[in-house]
Amino acid sequence: MRYCLPVSTLHWCSVAKMCKMAKAAGFDMVEFLLAGWILEHPEEAAEMARDEGLDVRFHLAWTRQTSSAQTLFWCAAWRILTSVGWLPKQGSTFWEMAPPIITDAVVVYAENLLNGLQVNHYVQTMSTMKDGRFQISRADADRRLLGGVQLVVFDTYHDLHFRDGGLQILEENSRVRLLELMVADYKMYGSRIAEIHIQDWSKTGGRSVWPGTGDLPIREFLLEVVNRDSELILTPETKPIMRNVADGLKRLCNDVQDLVD
Ligand SMILES: [Zn+2]
Repeated sequence: MRYCLPVSTLHWCSVAKMCKMAKAAGFDMVEFLLAGWILEHPEEAAEMARDEGLDVRFHLAWTRQTSSAQTLFWCAAWRILTSVGWLPKQGSTFWEMAPPIITDAVVVYAENLLNGLQVNHYVQTMSTMKDGRFQISRADADRRLLGGVQLVVFDTYHDLHFRDGGLQILEENSRVRLLELMVADYKMYGSRIAEIHIQDWSKTGGRSVWPGTGDLPIREFLLEVVNRDSELILTPETKPIMRNVADGLKRLCNDVQDLVD
């Protein structure tokens, strides 16, 4: 099992310092969000991580229109983040957001299966949205994914969310039923899964709550599907504000390790 920290230029400190802190906290890898300085300098960012002995992968960003968070608050936040260059601008093409020069793994969204992907593109169990709808249906995404060669990034929240009536399914089902749904999908993708995004969700706190504290059966799921000695990568997805201090990062890494013990 390897543990991976998502890193973006939204953190207050520099990319180099984030890499140092990630290593000190016990992470083995970093997953750089392809936005801002990192999008302009992906090779330099990768070098900084490797200098700390960390493996590297990248994660495609989203734009203001394609975000799944479209409340008034988030629309205002996306507008500001786009204007300061932290998010790619509206209308950016896939190849502008995932420069082909990158040969490390890049986690992309499911609708990018329509773009003619490379083998270093790993497809997340999530589509971005347009006008309130997923840009590709889950059924179409699964058909293309299972018929292709790309590896899969299984996101515990988005696996449930990215389906017809996903939000309702999350709200209305018991923990036991959610576990059944996640395990069935995990088995369907089988050995194609390279990484799990551990993203918890709660009825009151929404998504990206601290891993293990929400309403998703994360611990039960990992117990059922994961072999602790595997090469699988576990990447906790939390709200960015919770992971930018050294103590927070240590606690995050420990808490994720505890979930598989
Ligand atoms: Zn994810």
